[in-house]
Amino acid sequence: MRAMMAPSLVAIDDEVEFTKTLEQFFSVRGYDIHVAITGLTGIELVNEYKPDVVLVDLKMPGMDGDEILKRVRETLPRTKVIFITAYNDGGKTRDRLLSLGAFAHFDKPLSSLRDLFDTVKRATAGQELA
Ligand SMILES: [Mg+2]
Repeated sequence: MRAMMAPSLVAIDDEVEFTKTLEQFFSVRGYDIHVAITGLTGIELVNEYKPDVVLVDLKMPGMDGDEILKRVRETLPRTKVIFITAYNDGGKTRDRLLSLGAFAHFDKPLSSLRDLFDTVKRATAGQELA
């Protein structure tokens, strides 16, 4: 049970420094965040913690973001998936991911962690912040 606890996040990205940035940013704001640098480890964290939000990269060796989105949609339908990906294809990737059920998509490099934060807050509306 996670009654009266902070919203929980799992962040999955093969860029180690980026996961550290996310971990720092969200933990100081009262979120319960776990990070992984491979898709496989990430999905294990997702299954273990059943987070409110998954922040995920698209291109990763092994299990990629598409597979993670598919698995989360199948097993944790209330969990929101937010992509942070470095794609410049005129919005095609964004549209595709949103049509598959992603909650939001951000281009990397992130221009503002604040925008991501606001979107995570929207995704966890109704959850309690510590
Ligand atoms: Mg990557």
